[in-house]
Amino acid sequence: MKDRGLEGRVAVLTGGGGILCASIALGLAQAGLRVVLLDLDEGKARAALRAVEAAGGDGLALAGSVLDRGDLEHAAETVLERFGRLDVLINGAGGNHPRATTSDEQSFFDLPEDAIRFVFDLNAFGTILSCQVFGRVMAQAGEGVILNIASMNAIRPLTRIPAYSAAKAAVANFTQWLAVHLSQTVSPGIRVNAIAPGFFLTEQNRFLLETAEGDTTPRGAQILAHTPMGRFGEPRDLWGTVLWLVSPASAFVHGIVVPIDGGFSAYSGV
Ligand code: NAD
Repeated sequence: MKDRGLEGRVAVLTGGGGILCASIALGLAQAGLRVVLLDLDEGKARAALRAVEAAGGDGLALAGSVLDRGDLEHAAETVLERFGRLDVLINGAGGNHPRATTSDEQSFFDLPEDAIRFVFDLNAFGTILSCQVFGRVMAQAGEGVILNIASMNAIRPLTRIPAYSAAKAAVANFTQWLAVHLSQTVSPGIRVNAIAPGFFLTEQNRFLLETAEGDTTPRGAQILAHTPMGRFGEPRDLWGTVLWLVSPASAFVHGIVVPIDGGFSAYSGV
Protein backbone atom coordinates (compact mmCIF):
# COMPACT_ATOMS: atom_id res chain seq x y z
CA MET A 1 0.00 0.00 0.00
CA LYS A 2 1.41 3.42 -0.95
CA ASP A 3 2.02 5.82 1.92
CA ARG A 4 1.67 9.52 1.19
CA GLY A 5 4.42 10.37 3.67
CA LEU A 6 6.90 7.98 2.05
CA GLU A 7 6.09 7.92 -1.67
CA GLY A 8 9.12 8.74 -3.83
CA ARG A 9 11.57 8.78 -0.94
CA VAL A 10 14.87 6.98 -1.33
CA ALA A 11 16.13 4.40 1.14
CA VAL A 12 19.63 2.90 1.19
CA LEU A 13 19.84 -0.52 2.81
CA THR A 14 23.29 -1.91 3.61
CA GLY A 15 23.32 -5.69 3.56
CA GLY A 16 20.41 -5.12 1.19
CA GLY A 17 20.82 -8.54 -0.41
CA GLY A 18 20.45 -10.32 2.95
CA ILE A 19 17.36 -12.14 4.07
CA LEU A 20 15.96 -9.51 6.44
CA CYS A 21 16.90 -6.42 4.39
CA ALA A 22 15.75 -7.90 1.08
CA SER A 23 12.37 -8.43 2.72
CA ILE A 24 12.37 -4.98 4.35
CA ALA A 25 13.18 -3.51 0.91
CA LEU A 26 10.11 -5.18 -0.50
CA GLY A 27 8.00 -3.66 2.28
CA LEU A 28 9.48 -0.21 1.69
CA ALA A 29 8.97 -0.49 -2.08
CA GLN A 30 5.33 -1.42 -1.56
CA ALA A 31 4.96 1.72 0.54
CA GLY A 32 6.29 3.75 -2.42
CA LEU A 33 9.97 4.19 -1.53
CA ARG A 34 12.76 3.64 -4.00
CA VAL A 35 15.30 1.25 -2.52
CA VAL A 36 19.07 1.09 -2.96
CA LEU A 37 20.42 -2.34 -2.08
CA LEU A 38 24.09 -2.14 -1.16
CA ASP A 39 25.76 -5.46 -0.45
CA LEU A 40 29.20 -7.04 -0.43
CA ASP A 41 27.62 -9.75 -2.57
CA GLU A 42 26.41 -8.03 -5.74
CA GLY A 43 24.52 -11.14 -6.85
CA LYS A 44 22.39 -11.05 -3.70
CA ALA A 45 21.74 -7.32 -4.12
CA ARG A 46 20.64 -7.89 -7.71
CA ALA A 47 18.37 -10.77 -6.74
CA ALA A 48 16.75 -8.60 -4.06
CA LEU A 49 16.27 -5.80 -6.60
CA ARG A 50 14.63 -8.20 -9.06
CA ALA A 51 12.11 -9.14 -6.35
CA VAL A 52 11.41 -5.44 -5.71
CA GLU A 53 10.95 -4.77 -9.44
CA ALA A 54 8.74 -7.82 -9.85
CA ALA A 55 6.49 -6.33 -7.16
CA GLY A 56 6.30 -3.05 -9.11
CA GLY A 57 9.00 -1.19 -7.16
CA ASP A 58 12.01 0.78 -8.30
CA GLY A 59 15.58 0.85 -7.06
CA LEU A 60 19.24 0.12 -7.54
CA ALA A 61 21.60 -2.72 -6.67
CA LEU A 62 25.14 -1.72 -5.71
CA ALA A 63 28.19 -3.75 -4.76
CA GLY A 64 30.21 -2.44 -1.83
CA SER A 65 31.46 -3.05 1.68
CA VAL A 66 30.34 -1.14 4.75
CA LEU A 67 33.92 -1.47 5.93
CA ASP A 68 35.26 0.56 3.01
CA ARG A 69 34.74 4.34 3.12
CA GLY A 70 35.47 4.62 -0.62
CA ASP A 71 32.75 2.08 -1.45
CA LEU A 72 30.26 3.95 0.72
CA GLU A 73 31.15 7.35 -0.73
CA HIS A 74 30.83 5.95 -4.24
CA ALA A 75 27.43 4.52 -3.34
CA ALA A 76 26.27 7.86 -1.91
CA GLU A 77 27.37 9.68 -5.09
CA THR A 78 25.62 7.11 -7.26
CA VAL A 79 22.38 7.46 -5.28
CA LEU A 80 22.42 11.25 -5.58
CA GLU A 81 23.19 11.09 -9.31
CA ARG A 82 20.40 8.64 -9.93
CA PHE A 83 17.69 9.86 -7.57
CA GLY A 84 18.84 13.31 -6.40
CA ARG A 85 17.99 12.54 -2.77
CA LEU A 86 18.65 10.18 0.11
CA ASP A 87 15.99 10.06 2.80
CA VAL A 88 16.43 6.81 4.72
CA LEU A 89 19.43 4.71 5.73
CA ILE A 90 18.93 1.21 7.09
CA ASN A 91 22.13 -0.35 8.39
CA GLY A 92 21.47 -4.04 7.86
CA ALA A 93 24.93 -5.40 7.06
CA GLY A 94 25.87 -7.54 10.02
CA GLY A 95 25.94 -11.01 11.46
CA ASN A 96 27.85 -13.48 13.56
CA HIS A 97 30.66 -15.80 12.50
CA PRO A 98 30.87 -19.50 13.44
CA ARG A 99 34.54 -19.06 14.44
CA ALA A 100 33.54 -16.35 16.94
CA THR A 101 31.14 -18.77 18.65
CA THR A 102 32.07 -20.83 21.72
CA SER A 103 31.36 -24.56 21.74
CA ASP A 104 32.56 -27.78 23.39
CA GLU A 105 35.41 -27.74 20.87
CA GLN A 106 36.22 -24.01 21.04
CA SER A 107 36.47 -22.31 24.43
CA PHE A 108 36.10 -18.58 24.96
CA PHE A 109 39.83 -18.46 25.76
CA ASP A 110 40.70 -19.83 22.32
CA LEU A 111 38.35 -17.77 20.14
CA PRO A 112 40.53 -16.53 17.30
CA GLU A 113 41.30 -12.83 17.42
CA ASP A 114 40.59 -12.35 13.73
CA ALA A 115 37.09 -13.87 14.10
CA ILE A 116 36.28 -11.60 17.07
CA ARG A 117 37.51 -8.56 15.15
CA PHE A 118 35.54 -9.61 12.06
CA VAL A 119 32.28 -9.60 14.03
CA PHE A 120 33.02 -6.30 15.78
CA ASP A 121 34.02 -4.64 12.54
CA LEU A 122 31.06 -5.83 10.52
CA ASN A 123 28.37 -4.99 13.07
CA ALA A 124 29.71 -2.00 14.98
CA PHE A 125 32.33 -0.32 12.80
CA GLY A 126 30.33 -0.97 9.60
CA THR A 127 27.30 0.78 11.13
CA ILE A 128 29.35 3.76 12.34
CA LEU A 129 31.17 4.21 9.01
CA SER A 130 27.93 3.99 7.04
CA CYS A 131 26.34 6.63 9.33
CA GLN A 132 29.33 8.90 8.74
CA VAL A 133 29.10 8.70 4.96
CA PHE A 134 25.33 8.63 4.36
CA GLY A 135 24.68 10.76 7.46
CA ARG A 136 26.75 13.55 5.89
CA VAL A 137 24.35 13.62 2.93
CA MET A 138 21.41 13.88 5.33
CA ALA A 139 23.21 16.61 7.29
CA GLN A 140 23.53 18.63 4.08
CA ALA A 141 19.80 18.22 3.43
CA GLY A 142 18.94 18.87 7.09
CA GLU A 143 16.67 15.85 7.25
CA GLY A 144 16.64 12.09 7.08
CA VAL A 145 16.02 8.91 8.99
CA ILE A 146 18.63 6.41 10.13
CA LEU A 147 17.57 2.97 11.31
CA ASN A 148 20.19 0.65 12.76
CA ILE A 149 19.74 -3.07 13.27
CA ALA A 150 20.70 -4.20 16.74
CA SER A 151 19.53 -7.51 18.21
CA MET A 152 18.03 -9.12 21.30
CA ASN A 153 21.67 -9.72 22.22
CA ALA A 154 22.10 -5.99 22.68
CA ILE A 155 19.59 -6.03 25.52
CA ARG A 156 20.70 -9.27 27.21
CA PRO A 157 23.56 -11.33 25.76
CA LEU A 158 22.92 -14.89 24.65
CA THR A 159 25.36 -17.64 25.49
CA ARG A 160 28.09 -18.63 23.00
CA ILE A 161 28.28 -15.45 20.90
CA PRO A 162 30.27 -12.89 22.92
CA ALA A 163 31.56 -10.77 20.05
CA TYR A 164 28.18 -10.53 18.32
CA SER A 165 26.42 -9.63 21.58
CA ALA A 166 28.95 -6.96 22.49
CA ALA A 167 28.96 -5.53 18.96
CA LYS A 168 25.16 -5.29 18.86
CA ALA A 169 25.19 -3.65 22.31
CA ALA A 170 27.59 -1.13 20.76
CA VAL A 171 25.13 -0.56 17.90
CA ALA A 172 22.30 0.13 20.38
CA ASN A 173 24.49 2.49 22.40
CA PHE A 174 25.73 4.26 19.25
CA THR A 175 22.12 4.69 18.10
CA GLN A 176 21.37 6.73 21.23
CA TRP A 177 24.61 8.66 20.95
CA LEU A 178 24.08 9.58 17.30
CA ALA A 179 20.46 10.60 17.89
CA VAL A 180 21.52 13.11 20.53
CA HIS A 181 24.58 14.29 18.62
CA LEU A 182 22.79 14.95 15.33
CA SER A 183 19.92 16.80 17.01
CA GLN A 184 22.24 18.97 19.09
CA THR A 185 24.90 19.74 16.52
CA VAL A 186 23.49 19.15 13.04
CA SER A 187 19.71 19.22 12.64
CA PRO A 188 16.65 18.16 14.63
CA GLY A 189 15.32 16.97 11.26
CA ILE A 190 17.43 13.82 11.31
CA ARG A 191 16.09 10.94 13.40
CA VAL A 192 18.04 7.88 14.50
CA ASN A 193 16.50 4.71 15.92
CA ALA A 194 17.16 0.97 15.91
CA ILE A 195 15.23 -2.25 15.82
CA ALA A 196 16.25 -5.28 17.87
CA PRO A 197 14.95 -8.34 16.05
CA GLY A 198 14.54 -11.50 18.08
CA PHE A 199 15.07 -14.83 16.38
CA PHE A 200 14.57 -15.05 12.68
CA LEU A 201 15.77 -18.21 10.97
CA THR A 202 18.34 -17.00 8.43
CA GLU A 203 21.62 -18.17 6.93
CA GLN A 204 23.76 -16.53 9.63
CA ASN A 205 22.12 -18.43 12.50
CA ARG A 206 20.72 -21.54 10.84
CA PHE A 207 23.71 -23.58 12.05
CA LEU A 208 22.76 -22.70 15.63
CA LEU A 209 19.02 -23.25 15.33
CA GLU A 210 18.57 -26.15 12.88
CA THR A 211 20.30 -29.48 12.26
CA ALA A 212 21.39 -30.52 8.76
CA GLU A 213 18.15 -32.55 8.61
CA GLY A 214 16.07 -29.42 9.31
CA ASP A 215 15.11 -30.34 12.89
CA THR A 216 15.24 -27.70 15.64
CA THR A 217 18.48 -27.89 17.66
CA PRO A 218 18.34 -27.95 21.48
CA ARG A 219 19.34 -24.25 21.37
CA GLY A 220 16.54 -23.52 18.89
CA ALA A 221 14.07 -25.36 21.13
CA GLN A 222 15.28 -23.36 24.14
CA ILE A 223 14.71 -20.11 22.24
CA LEU A 224 11.20 -21.16 21.24
CA ALA A 225 10.46 -22.12 24.84
CA HIS A 226 11.47 -18.60 25.89
CA THR A 227 9.47 -16.89 23.15
CA PRO A 228 5.92 -16.42 24.47
CA MET A 229 4.57 -16.40 20.91
CA GLY A 230 6.19 -19.82 20.38
CA ARG A 231 7.72 -19.31 16.94
CA PHE A 232 10.71 -17.81 15.13
CA GLY A 233 10.12 -14.47 13.44
CA GLU A 234 9.28 -14.16 9.75
CA PRO A 235 11.10 -11.34 7.90
CA ARG A 236 7.74 -9.70 7.19
CA ASP A 237 7.22 -9.34 10.95
CA LEU A 238 9.69 -6.42 10.67
CA TRP A 239 7.78 -4.47 8.05
CA GLY A 240 5.28 -2.61 10.21
CA THR A 241 7.82 -1.38 12.75
CA VAL A 242 10.32 -0.36 10.06
CA LEU A 243 7.66 1.55 8.10
CA TRP A 244 6.57 3.31 11.28
CA LEU A 245 10.13 4.28 12.20
CA VAL A 246 11.04 5.63 8.73
CA SER A 247 7.76 7.50 8.28
CA PRO A 248 6.45 10.82 9.63
CA ALA A 249 4.15 8.74 11.87
CA SER A 250 7.15 8.46 14.24
CA ALA A 251 8.23 12.11 13.84
CA PHE A 252 8.95 12.54 17.58
CA VAL A 253 10.50 9.08 18.12
CA HIS A 254 14.25 9.41 18.41
CA GLY A 255 17.08 7.37 19.95
CA ILE A 256 15.11 4.22 20.79
CA VAL A 257 15.70 0.51 20.19
CA VAL A 258 12.49 -1.39 19.45
CA PRO A 259 12.39 -5.12 20.20
CA ILE A 260 10.59 -7.22 17.58
CA ASP A 261 10.83 -10.56 19.28
CA GLY A 262 7.52 -12.28 19.96
CA GLY A 263 7.85 -11.31 23.62
CA PHE A 264 11.29 -12.90 24.20
CA SER A 265 12.69 -9.87 26.04
CA ALA A 266 9.59 -9.59 28.24
CA TYR A 267 9.68 -13.19 29.49
CA SER A 268 11.69 -14.09 32.58
CA GLY A 269 11.36 -17.80 31.84
CA VAL A 270 9.04 -18.36 34.81
P1 NAD B 1 22.07 -12.08 6.14
O1 NAD B 1 23.37 -12.77 6.33
O2 NAD B 1 21.01 -12.74 5.33
O3 NAD B 1 22.31 -10.62 5.56
C1 NAD B 1 23.46 -9.86 5.78
C2 NAD B 1 23.90 -9.29 4.45
O4 NAD B 1 25.01 -8.43 4.69
C3 NAD B 1 24.35 -10.34 3.45
O5 NAD B 1 23.66 -10.18 2.22
C4 NAD B 1 25.85 -10.09 3.28
O6 NAD B 1 26.32 -10.35 1.97
C5 NAD B 1 25.92 -8.62 3.61
N1 NAD B 1 27.27 -8.21 4.04
C6 NAD B 1 28.15 -8.93 4.77
N2 NAD B 1 29.28 -8.23 4.94
C7 NAD B 1 29.09 -7.03 4.33
C8 NAD B 1 29.89 -5.87 4.16
N3 NAD B 1 31.11 -5.80 4.68
N4 NAD B 1 29.36 -4.84 3.47
C9 NAD B 1 28.13 -4.89 2.93
N5 NAD B 1 27.33 -5.98 3.05
C10 NAD B 1 27.79 -7.02 3.75
O7 NAD B 1 21.55 -11.78 7.63
P2 NAD B 1 20.15 -11.31 8.16
O8 NAD B 1 19.67 -12.35 9.11
O9 NAD B 1 19.26 -10.84 7.07
O10 NAD B 1 20.59 -10.10 9.10
C11 NAD B 1 20.47 -8.74 8.76
C12 NAD B 1 20.79 -7.92 10.00
O11 NAD B 1 19.88 -8.25 11.05
C13 NAD B 1 22.19 -8.18 10.57
O12 NAD B 1 22.70 -6.98 11.10
C14 NAD B 1 21.93 -9.16 11.68
O13 NAD B 1 22.95 -9.13 12.64
C15 NAD B 1 20.61 -8.62 12.21
N6 NAD B 1 19.82 -9.56 12.99
C16 NAD B 1 19.42 -10.75 12.48
C17 NAD B 1 18.65 -11.59 13.29
C18 NAD B 1 18.18 -12.90 12.79
O14 NAD B 1 17.54 -13.64 13.58
N7 NAD B 1 18.41 -13.25 11.54
C19 NAD B 1 18.29 -11.21 14.58
C20 NAD B 1 18.72 -9.98 15.05
C21 NAD B 1 19.48 -9.15 14.26
